[in-house]
Amino acid sequence: MVIKSKEFLHKTLEINKNKGKTIGLVPTMGALHDGHLALISFAYKFCDVVVVSIFVNPTQFNNASDLEKYPRHIEKDAAFLKKHNSKTLVFTPNVEEVYADGLKSESYNFGSIVDFMEGEFRAGHFDGVGSVLKRLFTIVDPDKAFFGEKDYQQLMAVKKLVTITDQKVEIIGCPTNRNEFGLAQSSRNFRLNDTQLKQAELIFEALTQARSMFDDYSILDIEKEVKKRFQQSALELEYFSIVKTKDLIPTTTKEPKEAYRGFIAAFLGDVRLIDNMALN
Ligand code: AMP
Repeated sequence: MVIKSKEFLHKTLEINKNKGKTIGLVPTMGALHDGHLALISFAYKFCDVVVVSIFVNPTQFNNASDLEKYPRHIEKDAAFLKKHNSKTLVFTPNVEEVYADGLKSESYNFGSIVDFMEGEFRAGHFDGVGSVLKRLFTIVDPDKAFFGEKDYQQLMAVKKLVTITDQKVEIIGCPTNRNEFGLAQSSRNFRLNDTQLKQAELIFEALTQARSMFDDYSILDIEKEVKKRFQQSALELEYFSIVKTKDLIPTTTKEPKEAYRGFIAAFLGDVRLIDNMALN
């Protein structure tokens, strides 16, 4: 069922809450794909009712052309969900409904987790993400909300957001869904042609190589190797960072018993792709 207004959503959720059902929220920006479907199926493991919001949030884009080119096909999305997960509630609010108090971003003290990578290259991005999610959590009032590890930095920022804003929703992360060649599913993949989709597999290959080198080589050696692979490719690497999982601060040294992740952002033409992977 597609729901456009907050009022109708509240009524529908109230009926379910009165029956003791648990509510899960999967926030998305639409252009739905198998990665979103995996996240929705994951949410049904924890909740009786799942709300998928589709809202392209203007405040999280630092680049006007990126916002403009972001793929939007709500009707196709609704049909896609109806086919695969017909009981899912699809909430498609407009900007005025979400930003009833005006279209602006608040600023949050997320700490070190947003200082690098997406936080460094997309100024204001996480404040925009925080601003929309705080509002969506207030509107939907879910018991749990689900986020993909594909956007790992976002997942950690959202966990921090709910402590900062004192919202009672539990945040749960879901593993990244990939195609058969390892490419992380993404709405931005819709903008790639067949040749580019093959070329984009390098991101997964590079992360996999970093993981296989991790125990035996220095972080500097791994970085050199990954950068070399990108130099010889059609992709333009924006960053490759190896960070401690707990604080997302890039490091060049390894400590015993510490968990590390590799993060990549790269351009293929004007399409920006990101991915990440646990390295140990
Ligand atoms: P987006 O519509 O790109 O903002 O993504 C909405 C949610 O789906 C976010 O929590 C993403 O992390 C998650 N997501 C996107 N792609 C994937 C994927 N390939 N696997 C798992 N979750 C994903």
